[in-house]
Amino acid sequence: MQISHDVLIVGSGAAGLYAAYWASTKADVAVMSKLFPTRSHTGAAQGGIGAALGNEEEDKPLWHWFDTIKGGDYLGDQDAMRTLCYDAPQTIYELEHLGVPFSRTDEGKIAQRPFGGHTRNFGERAVRRACYAADRTGHVILHTLYENCVKQDVHFYSEFQILDLLFNEDKSKCVGAVAYDMLSGETHTVHAKVVVLATGGSCKNYATTSNCQANTGDAFGIMLKNGLPLEDMEFIQFHPTGLAGLGILVTEGARGEGGFLTNSEGERFMERYAPTVKDLAPRDMVAQCMYKEVLEGRGIHKTSRICQEDYVYLNLMHLGKEELMKKLPEISDFATTYLGIKPWDEPVPVMPTAHYIMGGIPTDPDGRVKLNEQGDIIEGLYAAGECACVSVHGANRLGTNSLLDLVVFGRRVGLHVAKNVDALNLGSLPKYPEAAIEADIKRIKENGSSKEKHGQLRKELAEVMMEKCSVNRTEESLTACRDEVLKLRERYQQCGIDDQGAVFNSDLLEALELGFMIDYSLVQIEGALIRKESRGAHLRLDGPDGGQMPRDDENFLKHTYAWLNQDGSVKLEWGKVHLIQDDPEGSWEPDLIEKMKPKERKY
Ligand SMILES: Cc1cc2nc3c(=O)[nH]c(=O)nc-3n(C[C@H](O)[C@H](O)[C@H](O)COP(=O)(O)OP(=O)(O)OC[C@H]3O[C@@H](n4cnc5c(N)ncnc54)[C@H](O)[C@@H]3O)c2cc1C
Repeated sequence: MQISHDVLIVGSGAAGLYAAYWASTKADVAVMSKLFPTRSHTGAAQGGIGAALGNEEEDKPLWHWFDTIKGGDYLGDQDAMRTLCYDAPQTIYELEHLGVPFSRTDEGKIAQRPFGGHTRNFGERAVRRACYAADRTGHVILHTLYENCVKQDVHFYSEFQILDLLFNEDKSKCVGAVAYDMLSGETHTVHAKVVVLATGGSCKNYATTSNCQANTGDAFGIMLKNGLPLEDMEFIQFHPTGLAGLGILVTEGARGEGGFLTNSEGERFMERYAPTVKDLAPRDMVAQCMYKEVLEGRGIHKTSRICQEDYVYLNLMHLGKEELMKKLPEISDFATTYLGIKPWDEPVPVMPTAHYIMGGIPTDPDGRVKLNEQGDIIEGLYAAGECACVSVHGANRLGTNSLLDLVVFGRRVGLHVAKNVDALNLGSLPKYPEAAIEADIKRIKENGSSKEKHGQLRKELAEVMMEKCSVNRTEESLTACRDEVLKLRERYQQCGIDDQGAVFNSDLLEALELGFMIDYSLVQIEGALIRKESRGAHLRLDGPDGGQMPRDDENFLKHTYAWLNQDGSVKLEWGKVHLIQDDPEGSWEPDLIEKMKPKERKY
């Protein structure tokens, strides 16, 4: 079957839905999602969405901008980061008016809590900047946006998985996509003037992760298969507080509300590493400090069925049951259900969990997909949300800045599409069997019940990435990781499936997802290998004296752009970081330029 719409949005998290909402003011919009829309991972976001509203104390977008630049270890594009922070208040009020039920202050204003790396007056102390709805912030945003899209007659295709993109002959224009209908097992071509990729995160290639099953980075694999680049993929955020052994997330809001970490000696160790903001240092720092404590023998060693490794404690007891049930009900429930620990009675065992990808599909600030660092674009192709890299998170994202990224840039994409869609025409559609994915489906089906099972290969991939390309990295670990993933790529050619049926063939889809995951893992490893420095979430422990490699602005204050060759090798190019100090048209105060200049991060 051939489906045709003006605009095809792939993914129904907050980024996809906000783009759909605004695009549908002018165009016929379809959203395709491999999940039912309100099951998207945005619904799992707990702690908050950042905006300098100043409802609880003085705050300014300027300070938010500074924190975002510094939090990202100076790798983010400062112009895009400015858009993120200055568009934030207006976007939050728009969400409020659409119906998002934020928690309130006694005066009835949107309530705000502190979060890691968010400070007042250029790092003086932590500030209350995260707007929230208890610890279900993403859930309420997602539901509100879905309802508003339904109201605007956006056409939803749930449980339709996009497997490939379609381009015109010279690949200058995206003209649609290949969609797999899970219910019937049929593949459809979707013809559209505009395709927006909003497929979310990709941390399912790590064994310990906070991400949902759907976060397999399909769009990354599709980009690479089509000879298109990904940016800054080596930067993967490990959230400090995953439930030990499970990876299920305990929001940073828990530390925002006064929770703190302790080691086996009962010491509040973050006071040593970040004397000003302590447990509210940015995530990269906290995760790295936790590993250091454990490596130096100050981890807590109580192995159980669930957790075989050492961990540290998150202390919440002093907040009391009533406060915890009011402000952090969901995470209290998680600790009780999954670890049998009531957080008002006992400390919660936690260790870092793979959480977020800072890199992704390179875009300009309107979400148009870039072909290279020079900024050439492909007509009709946009990306928004976690799968996109507008470069607003640099080498480390601050908590609450992802939900903000989704709505600020989802909205900008929707508005840009609404403004320009009339001027575009439907390009002519190539024949579907020419799409590269067809050969993969055929091969997997024909391999049948072969000895290579996708479940086993996926497990091996996640384990090797977790062991050799996670928080601590060395040339040795990364080289070994690349070799093992290349072997998995070879074995993947023999991967087959038992289920040859049409209806809900998750066997086939999971096998295809694995192919995408192997491909973007190779890009992540190669970026980490070539970046011989430590920056943000990328920590290299093979420095000259056997210690940590320092940050090296002279050689590595650059973005990576990566393409995957057919043999699994990676082509890398460097891209310039946009700093306001280099902006020829900027009329920035010298004092501000000085503040935003890359310097050593201290908290
Ligand atoms: C547990 C958890 C808690 C978090 N808490 C916070 C927080 O408090 N604050 C914050 O700022 N950030 C938080 N984050 C991060 C943030 O929630 C995510 O970055 C964000 O929700 C991603 O949104 P998205 O719209 O890009 O994609 P998602 O919400 O992940 O949605 C992706 C969509 O793409 C669809 N999809 C994927 N592949 C395909 C395909 N091939 N074909 C069709 N559809 C496809 C899926 O069905 C889904 O609809 C949290 C993340 C996690 C995991």
